[in-house]
Amino acid sequence: MEKRKFSIKKCPYCSVVLGLHDEICFSCKHKVGKVNQHGIAEKPVDWMSYALCIISLAAFVFFIWWAFLRQ
Ligand SMILES: [Zn+2]
Repeated sequence: MEKRKFSIKKCPYCSVVLGLHDEICFSCKHKVGKVNQHGIAEKPVDWMSYALCIISLAAFVFFIWWAFLRQ
């Protein structure tokens, strides 16, 4: 349930005022998400860096297994 309705939102990176449906800040070019309850755009989750992190972790675990635990 929404308590307040916003017609603008603020960029979480540079605090410039954006339209409610803007997805990219015109000032700092960051991607911005939906407005939160404070009138500030949420920082969208960076799935690409999550995926890269998981892949490199998996590769590391695989290397440890390959190097030391393989029979
Ligand atoms: Zn910005």
